[in-house]
Amino acid sequence: MHEQDSLLRKLLMNYSDKESDVDGVKGGRIAERLAELAKIGMTEEGGSRRLGFSKEERQAKELVKDWMRQAGLVVREDGAGNVFGRMKGKEDDRPAILSGSHVDTVPNGGHFDGALGVVAALEVVEAWNKTNYRPEYPFEVVIFSDEEGSRFNDGYIGSKAMMGQAKIEELMKQKDGNDLTFEEVLNSDGLSIEGFRRAKRNREEIELYVEVHIEQGKKLEKANLPCGIVSGIAGPSWFEITFYGDPGHAGSTPMDIRSDALVAAGKFIHELSHLPKQVSDSSVATVGKMFVEPNGVNVIPGKVTLYADIRDIHEDTREILITRMQKLIIGIEKEYSVRVHTKELMRIPPVLIKTELQEELSEAFSDLNLDVLKVPSGAGHDAMIIGEDIPVAMLFVRSKDGISHSPMEWSSLNDCVLAVHVLKRFVERMNKVSNIKGSCID
Ligand SMILES: [Zn+2]
Repeated sequence: MHEQDSLLRKLLMNYSDKESDVDGVKGGRIAERLAELAKIGMTEEGGSRRLGFSKEERQAKELVKDWMRQAGLVVREDGAGNVFGRMKGKEDDRPAILSGSHVDTVPNGGHFDGALGVVAALEVVEAWNKTNYRPEYPFEVVIFSDEEGSRFNDGYIGSKAMMGQAKIEELMKQKDGNDLTFEEVLNSDGLSIEGFRRAKRNREEIELYVEVHIEQGKKLEKANLPCGIVSGIAGPSWFEITFYGDPGHAGSTPMDIRSDALVAAGKFIHELSHLPKQVSDSSVATVGKMFVEPNGVNVIPGKVTLYADIRDIHEDTREILITRMQKLIIGIEKEYSVRVHTKELMRIPPVLIKTELQEELSEAFSDLNLDVLKVPSGAGHDAMIIGEDIPVAMLFVRSKDGISHSPMEWSSLNDCVLAVHVLKRFVERMNKVSNIKGSCID
């Protein structure tokens, strides 16, 4: 127990900026809620373990639902386990503005990734209740199920279900670490495949989605700023690349007649790392997983399978990078006498945040006398899935040392509270725009 209490104490002690307790926003409540969520699924290392559709994720959702009801929200859960807490708008037949994130974590994750976005959106409601503000648009605080994808080979499961993008048949073929099928996992959480299929929401019901999230990088820390505006979310594209050579004896095969799949793959990995900077400032390329066959000390590798992750926030430069990677592969095939087979596994479009929304966020920063920094998001978020169809905005909060997906993940409460203020201002500004979708022209 003392460890959990110490998180709360640490959060509160770091909150020196009591002047930010204005306009109904309360830092102490934000700290308490983050600490309450952190208690659920706490690991020995002091991290969080709340996998998608687990009893821990469920417990976290039920806790937030209680807070939502206490704040006067009407709570609804869809067939994918996504939770919506709705505040009526003055014009309640308008489409809603949604804000939130997720409460699931990676197996030994931190206490801010996801949780902060949900607590921040709810704090906006608390502040409005305190100041008797009523939005024009209905406002929904949302928790998306299984964002991290730690259980199945697919993330953003809740937001994909809401947007009608979930590949249900493929999910149904998979099993989790405990050999449970997707359907069994849903059932264990009180959900069903039939309900999951019905989770798709009419896009006309949503006007805008805005998400607060920790940066998971070091740009804000370097600039000494508490929060920043996300300029775009890099879409990942994944390739499975298999190099075929000739296996042979490591002792008796002369060097000049070899066809070594691993030497070719090694050249590929090295050259690939130099391609992004030729293409754009925001593109990245990574090989993070590889299998060598036969994988023997004295055998020339005959087959290497590796996985390349290519990302950029701009689709055009990402395509150029992919083309250059393919050219690189053709060159390597010739140079090393190997055959290469490339299979595309995933290509999620990058999401550029609309200029108009970035402008409105900048204005919200100015209202609070905060400097503006625009930061691309290398990591994916629920906003990336929703942004394919609906205008989205994102706000990053400074991460200590850029660390995330670790018990060491940390953002100061001062920074979290400022982000809530920015979010609140931004949503209030957007409530003055009568047609948000129509105002986003680029
Ligand atoms: Zn997250």
